Amino acid sequence: MKENMSEDSNYRRYVDHDIHTHTHLSLCCHEAGIADTYIKDAEKRGLRILGFSDHMWDNKINYPLTDFYKAQDYEHIIQIKSEISEKTDKLKILIGAETEFCMADTLGISESCAEKLDFVLVPHSHTHMLDFVMPKEYDNNIEKHSDYLVKSFMALCRHPMRRYITAIAHPFVPICKKSDYCERIYEAISDNTFTECFDAARDANIGIEINTSWCRKLTHDQIAASGYMRVLKLAAKSGCKFSLGSDAHGLSELGTIEKAADIMQIIGITDRDFISLVK
Ligand SMILES: [Zn+2]
Ligand SMILES: [Zn+2]
Repeated sequence: MKENMSEDSNYRRYVDHDIHTHTHLSLCCHEAGIADTYIKDAEKRGLRILGFSDHMWDNKINYPLTDFYKAQDYEHIIQIKSEISEKTDKLKILIGAETEFCMADTLGISESCAEKLDFVLVPHSHTHMLDFVMPKEYDNNIEKHSDYLVKSFMALCRHPMRRYITAIAHPFVPICKKSDYCERIYEAISDNTFTECFDAARDANIGIEINTSWCRKLTHDQIAASGYMRVLKLAAKSGCKFSLGSDAHGLSELGTIEKAADIMQIIGITDRDFISLVK
């Protein structure tokens, strides 16, 4: 245990960015998330780069939208620029977005919109948005749900807009599911299939996000015991590049990024394995 802790603190030095954060501009924020307070927190934490990535659907993309996304277009999330008053020279601030990928087909951002942002995170596993992201009939069916995740991941890597995808957010983690459901999803996908997916991400130059929100309350040993470590190890073996993201939905969750040190140590990557945006 002691050994683990000292190794983790070594890996802590690689935790120098967080490019997945939600402010009050994301309607699902649990608490008031104000850009300036995030900046102060990131400075205190010694990060070099902080990225804002509120949920966004580009209104140029025609699709039957949920009320959640009708309200969160580019004009809405870009208000962040006028909200930042905190001056900082210690920290590089990036303005991006977390968009959406529906039915393994429709991406929620146009080329012209992506050009205006510093980075674009795309999830393929917001599969709790039933009949929007994933057909409802696949829910609670491990085989169909895991097949959908593989299909949607591959579709993103082959998408005509793939060069605009900075990283795939929380890859293969089905959102809003309990950990035993997630474990069954990971188990249902073979090493070979994961490797095909990650090879495709590597070839498309799409980053793999190390998202720390799922392990917020876990110890090092609990993280190490998760089947998700097999998933990320296979991504590393394929030679994928990574980005770090707390997926904080409020100030108190920004500290979750510290868990990235545990994950990096367990899967055996360093800052050399980061995507170029955060190097
Ligand atoms: Zn997400
Ligand atoms: Zn998010």
